[in-house]
Amino acid sequence: MTAPATPLEMLEAVCAVARPRVLVVHAHPDDETVQTGGLMASLARNTHLILATCTRGEAGEIVPGILPEGFTETEYVAKREHELAEACSALGIQERYFLGMPPARAGRLLRRDYRDSGMRWVREGLAGPADGTDPRTFTSAQLEEEVADLLALIRATSPDVILGYDREGSYGHPDHIRAHELAAAAASAADLPLVEIASADEAPEFSWFDLSSRKAEAVAALGCHATQLRVVNQEIVHVGGQHQRLPLRSGLRLVH
Ligand SMILES: [Zn+2]
Repeated sequence: MTAPATPLEMLEAVCAVARPRVLVVHAHPDDETVQTGGLMASLARNTHLILATCTRGEAGEIVPGILPEGFTETEYVAKREHELAEACSALGIQERYFLGMPPARAGRLLRRDYRDSGMRWVREGLAGPADGTDPRTFTSAQLEEEVADLLALIRATSPDVILGYDREGSYGHPDHIRAHELAAAAASAADLPLVEIASADEAPEFSWFDLSSRKAEAVAALGCHATQLRVVNQEIVHVGGQHQRLPLRSGLRLVH
């Protein structure tokens, strides 16, 4: 089999459906853009994209001056939800949901907001679990509960394929690793193909796609996440000072 030329070609081959419905599982508001902006903008042109965001990024740092002095967590979360909505518009994502909130909530359970679990840096570029265990976080919750919620969304939106992180979870953030486990378990339970997004640059077991033709949409979406980052000299500068390349190259592989 020849290597697919585009993400669309790969996903169409994976699910044997033209213009498939693609459910993408991301951990925090901004990951759809920071991790996969080019990929999302590319797929949005030719597929139906359904985004499931697992948390509201409550534990994230914030760029000073974006919110007024003394802002509350409620205000911060509202701002991040607004940023996510704007970024999804910029990328062309057609539908978006938060895990734990209907229709991404199992049965008749009350809404649950899975909280950002936070992280600490283990070394440059690799995150690990934060200290302390808040029982409300995404990683403290039972995986089974989260899988049931994602399966409810799958029943409601009928995707043909699920797209999620590989087991390294982009850069090791505990919420990204949990999002990987969630996507994998739900794909398996729903008998849907799972396509993973590569964490490591140019990892050889993935098909790699140049998405630089979608730069305008990716940069516009990055500009929506002003609490988290700035774009300076064609690079992302995160609130913590880390630099990252623009998300214009993605590696994908079919897992099952
Ligand atoms: Zn994240």
